[in-house]
Amino acid sequence: MEAIGIDIGGTSFKIGLVDGKGKLLDSFSYPVDHLKNQEDQINELGEKINDFLQKKEIGKSEIIGIGIGCPGSIDSSTGFCDYSNNLKWSHLNVCGILARITSIKCRISNDANVACLGEVKFGVARKYKNVVMLTLGTGIGSGIVIDGKLYEGNQGKGAECGHEVIKMNGRKCTCGRRGCFEAYASATALIKDTKAKMRKHKDSLMWDYVKQDIESVGGKTAFECAKKGDKAAIEVRDRYCFYLAEGILNICSIFRPECIILGGGVSNQKEYLLNNLVPLLEKANYGFGLGPKVEILIAELGNQAGMIGAASLLF
Ligand SMILES: [Zn+2]
Repeated sequence: MEAIGIDIGGTSFKIGLVDGKGKLLDSFSYPVDHLKNQEDQINELGEKINDFLQKKEIGKSEIIGIGIGCPGSIDSSTGFCDYSNNLKWSHLNVCGILARITSIKCRISNDANVACLGEVKFGVARKYKNVVMLTLGTGIGSGIVIDGKLYEGNQGKGAECGHEVIKMNGRKCTCGRRGCFEAYASATALIKDTKAKMRKHKDSLMWDYVKQDIESVGGKTAFECAKKGDKAAIEVRDRYCFYLAEGILNICSIFRPECIILGGGVSNQKEYLLNNLVPLLEKANYGFGLGPKVEILIAELGNQAGMIGAASLLF
């Protein structure tokens, strides 16, 4: 049995055919047409899926369903995208329209939720049932799996670990509160902190790394220069890991998951990130003395996570 997994992004839609073992058998993508109204964007998506199945000579009865991972505020119980800032969608009946055009049953969830489910069913957390995943990107997305099932909260509005407050009256967050985890430990925050440090340290290696153009600073600038021993970069790295650890420790206290998976751009630092992060967690006794150790893992599904995770809503 196969399912279709759709990764809805701000600039493109990726559509994959995924088998019951989480293997991506085939896929295609196309750019979002922002000139079309929101309903027509979904109509077009449905027609492209129909064309794809016809071209591949796959009968609709062979497809167990369509899973969708979508950024923004999703109501998985109704199949609506209630609001998506990236896509400028509001109150959009994604599942309803798609099911009508394709005659295939559809399920939708938040993109961070499906990424987590994908890693639990088919990725790095296959042997675990209680898992939290953090996606360290523009913001901090999160997914929570409890006893092997996705926990989405009432109307799919829960599992927003990025908005736990780690500093009272701290930095302003896009959600309206102050001091949220993502205002300190997202890639956006890391880039902001890197730039601030560079402005204070004109002799930092980070300036050479970005060829003197501060607008070229990315999530890896500080990490890469810290590896070369640059003092200012090391301070940025250590501060970032400190914030990340604070947020993770809160999650450990609430859920005591078997593992926490880190995904998103910053997680590309892999072992280097873990080597700098895990000692901070251990120092706070997150895994010793009080309870079972929480493993910190790096996501492994990569670019395919969106499609495989979305399809895993059906398996
Ligand atoms: Zn917030």
